[in-house]
Amino acid sequence: MGSKLRIVNGRLYDPANGVDGEVRDLCVEDGRIVESVGPDAKKIEAQGMVIMPGGVDIHCHIAGPKVNLARKLQPESHRYDVQPRTAFTRSGTGGTVPSTFTTGYRYATLGYTTAMEAAVPPIGARHTLEELHDTPVIDKGFYVLLGNNVLLNQLMKEGRRDELRQAVAWWLNATRAYTIKLVNPGGDEPWKGQRNAVITDLDQNIDSFDITPRQVITSLIEVANELGLPHPAHIHCNNLGHSGNYKTTLETMRMAGDSRVHITHIQFHSYGGEPGKNPTSMAPEIAAYVNDHPNVSADVGQVMFGKSTIMTADAPVAHLLRRLGSDKRWVNSDTECESGCGIIPFSYQEHIYTHALQWAIGLELFLLTKDPWRMVLSTDHPNGGSFMSYPRLIRLLMDRDFRDEQIKLVNQRAIRKTTLADGLSREYTLNEIAIVTRAGPARLLGLKNKGHLGVGAEADITIYEEDEDKEKMFTAPRYVLKDGKLIIEDHEFRGDNEGRILHVAPAYDPEIEKVIKPFFESYYSIRFENYAVTDHYLRAHEEIATAKPMAAE
Ligand SMILES: [Zn+2]
Repeated sequence: MGSKLRIVNGRLYDPANGVDGEVRDLCVEDGRIVESVGPDAKKIEAQGMVIMPGGVDIHCHIAGPKVNLARKLQPESHRYDVQPRTAFTRSGTGGTVPSTFTTGYRYATLGYTTAMEAAVPPIGARHTLEELHDTPVIDKGFYVLLGNNVLLNQLMKEGRRDELRQAVAWWLNATRAYTIKLVNPGGDEPWKGQRNAVITDLDQNIDSFDITPRQVITSLIEVANELGLPHPAHIHCNNLGHSGNYKTTLETMRMAGDSRVHITHIQFHSYGGEPGKNPTSMAPEIAAYVNDHPNVSADVGQVMFGKSTIMTADAPVAHLLRRLGSDKRWVNSDTECESGCGIIPFSYQEHIYTHALQWAIGLELFLLTKDPWRMVLSTDHPNGGSFMSYPRLIRLLMDRDFRDEQIKLVNQRAIRKTTLADGLSREYTLNEIAIVTRAGPARLLGLKNKGHLGVGAEADITIYEEDEDKEKMFTAPRYVLKDGKLIIEDHEFRGDNEGRILHVAPAYDPEIEKVIKPFFESYYSIRFENYAVTDHYLRAHEEIATAKPMAAE
């Protein structure tokens, strides 16, 4: 690198450092933000432009076994959305599940420079890392699925608490993951093993293991905190999508006590009503709980109208939804992995009651939550919609007139069940958008050098031309810099970048391998020695430090 750059006359939005729209110069040297650079530095004139840190996506699905299956399942979406190569970028295909190259480039065209793949079965770690290495421009990492792990379940059942913590630390190292992900905790294994048995209650006994979802959730929240992971347990609650599931969501948040916890795509978990009947909105109750509990954070999982791909490690819910897809295609897979998987091509439509309600609940959560640092933006890409719909979502949050027009176009029976009918007047400011799209997710992920523009921060910078139409403004930044390298200039690609894999490596006692190895030899189709991802498998990567373990002997 070594390049020096001074960006002049732009309006800076850097909420982590309390900078709210001040016009000031920003200097870059060797890939970092610096105090100043000499007169020989290259200059970017940014008058009339807004400068923000690069976007950080805390929850998306962009790599790994289920993502690849979803690509194979929808060849038509590639045929109709071809991205040709340019002098700087490689070719690819789009649709709701773009190819690896196109995923990286499209994030860059929105001004995003970091994205976290949110659900990988441990045995799929190598595959995921290969795809992430192949995803250009952005830094990236993944969350490893440990909420339906047979060996961990046994350790929980037998109360072997210390070994549980050691085993989780071993698994995080073996996969090079970023944090622990729970999906339908405790619910996938019985579904796979007992003729699609469905676990609906947090205190329901999971027969094959003699434990409950509550035990799985509380133990893994504790372990994540004890290991000092930079991001806490990332939880997709039980009963996703079911009417009445807000009770499960509230109870899951309560279980954390004062410990940090992140509830993902919380929109899909904010439904009232009787199970099996039409859902209602419980967004106000969920928002109130989050408002009152600073240990809890969430991402919204906004639904956006149009094509999506339901893609989840929650195998039972995909199995249940399989008839609701936009065509006959559906996959349940990965049943042999330490998790599950389901994929359904889908389309959200304005006139359908449930879809309109889901869209409205997402907006309610954004508008009713007081602290934008803890309710950050996601569509659970590609579940609620593609990440390419973020600019439209930003306009919905920033522009009340636009929002009110859109509200009129959707199923009114659904709108009447929500507080949107009361005319929520809040409009997000640019500062709040900077929080929910970059500063907030970076802070929740514990990424100290991202999401801000203070001295020492990574020079991941996005420069937008100001525009009344916020969708237009956020769709095509004028400049995007990654680690100080100019990737996009005047809306065109001018460079490429590999990006780093972000992962943790918490310390563990190697004695735990004596517990894990025999289990492998009895049950796995892969030898223990071949399972863990080794250093030589990683190309550009960065280990994010864990805090000192709390009270761990
Ligand atoms: Zn997800």
